Amino acid sequence: MTDTPTQLFIGGAWVDAADGATMPVDDPATGDVLCHVADAGPKDAGLAEEAAVQAQEEWARTAPRVRSEILRRAYEIIVERTDELAHTMTSEMGKPLAEARGEVAYAAEFFRWFSEEAVRVDGGYGTLPDGRNRMLLSRRPVGPCLLITPWNFPLAMGTRKIGPAVAAGCTMVLKPAPQTPLSSLALAAILKEAGLPDGVLNVVTTSRAGEVCEPLLRGGRIRKLSFTGSTAVGQLLLAQSAEAVVRTSMELGGNAPFIVFEDADLDKAVDGAMIAKMRNMGEACTAANRFFVHRSVAEEFGRRLAERMGALVVGPGTQDGVDVGPLIDRAGRAKVEDLVADAVERGARVLVGGRTPEGPGCFYPPTVLTDVSAGSRLMQTEIFGPVAAILTFDDEDEVVRRANDTPWGLVGYIFTEGLDRALRVSERLEVGMVGLNTGLVSNPAAPFGGVKQSGLGREGGRVGIDEFLEYQYLAVPVR
Ligand code: NAP
Repeated sequence: MTDTPTQLFIGGAWVDAADGATMPVDDPATGDVLCHVADAGPKDAGLAEEAAVQAQEEWARTAPRVRSEILRRAYEIIVERTDELAHTMTSEMGKPLAEARGEVAYAAEFFRWFSEEAVRVDGGYGTLPDGRNRMLLSRRPVGPCLLITPWNFPLAMGTRKIGPAVAAGCTMVLKPAPQTPLSSLALAAILKEAGLPDGVLNVVTTSRAGEVCEPLLRGGRIRKLSFTGSTAVGQLLLAQSAEAVVRTSMELGGNAPFIVFEDADLDKAVDGAMIAKMRNMGEACTAANRFFVHRSVAEEFGRRLAERMGALVVGPGTQDGVDVGPLIDRAGRAKVEDLVADAVERGARVLVGGRTPEGPGCFYPPTVLTDVSAGSRLMQTEIFGPVAAILTFDDEDEVVRRANDTPWGLVGYIFTEGLDRALRVSERLEVGMVGLNTGLVSNPAAPFGGVKQSGLGREGGRVGIDEFLEYQYLAVPVR
């Protein structure tokens, strides 16, 4: 941790906040302060914006191959430093080291993927219907971007935005979550080492997100906002973006249904549930939030899931053999406790877990609730913790209707051995992604994103770079 920068990264230099302010970074496993980092105010954000604006024109002209190779070098450095980056991430965020290493690999892949995409941006040439006019289409970087990321995937949420922005030729200001600034600062240092020119990426860590970001969004020089976080904050930022008509990409909250049909392979379903629920201690937008299990297999599924969940080892993520780290902070844990208490009051049975342990750190045990009533609050909000809530259903139409009965639409999981049913139900689910007999959908080569209040746009895949490009059409009459 001693080598991780703790200052702001502006115009290629490491600087303190203009007013000298700092903020603590806590270890959620102990509650201890790990270190202090610079706490930017609006003046620092203005300097970061200025650096991005000044760098934009030249960066847009840089050869795609050069941009590609910077990303490729950064990918290689990240992979080489997997252990160091994983340790930083576990210290500030809590996830077990094995998961942190997995996230480092996932994060690095976005740089590799977009290093390959940087040289594949194409245009077009065509004859218009009148047979006389021609059109030339070229693709341009959208311009300076504001990237705002959450704490739950501190490295990957950064690379998923920085990768396509760099590939497209955009400059940027990154504002990471205040709980997990160190991973983003480490990433900035790696990109500098990989040859990213000064001013292309600027990082402002701050405890004053609103004060720092609003002037940038309303000011007219930032041309794009890419945000990952809660739907409530996304809605606020969309409103702020309206004034200067800033282009937006929104990766927001989820409320994933996990549907187990009567013909499912229960081994696959339980394996899938463990990933869809327990990845990142349940603190994932893709986390299975509502388990709909066919009445005929619900008891067996609940029993097997409770057995697996109950066997997980809870503890500090840096310790060997730990499967489940602490939640991000006390507020996050209190929310989980309230949701479980509400479900139990409304008749849910606790098959395993459900009790906050004594002692320091924000730990919460893996928990399985069954007989959850449809009116429970955890049906209509992201649990963001290691709690599986099981409801039963009787037929396909009913479960599709109930699965879609939510304002969110990020991802859904279906477990069935019938191909017809799998396709039929996937098509009817109002979600951007479906896991069929799997609990994991995230992949840098696939378009990640949701419908309804889960967001706008896609990250990753062939389309990920489009979010950072504009078309320019050139009309050419030919006589
Ligand atoms: P959050 O509270 O919405 O915060 C996300 C980011 O927005 C943080 O950096 C936060 O900084 C910042 N922010 C908050 N208010 C702001 C404002 N007024 N102006 C500018 N920035 C502001 O979400 P979170 O609790 O960190 O993350 C969890 C949420 O992210 C969940 O809803 C989860 O589903 C979602 N998520 C979605 C995806 C996806 O791809 N769809 C991926 C991961 C997470 P402060 O903390 O300082 O306010």
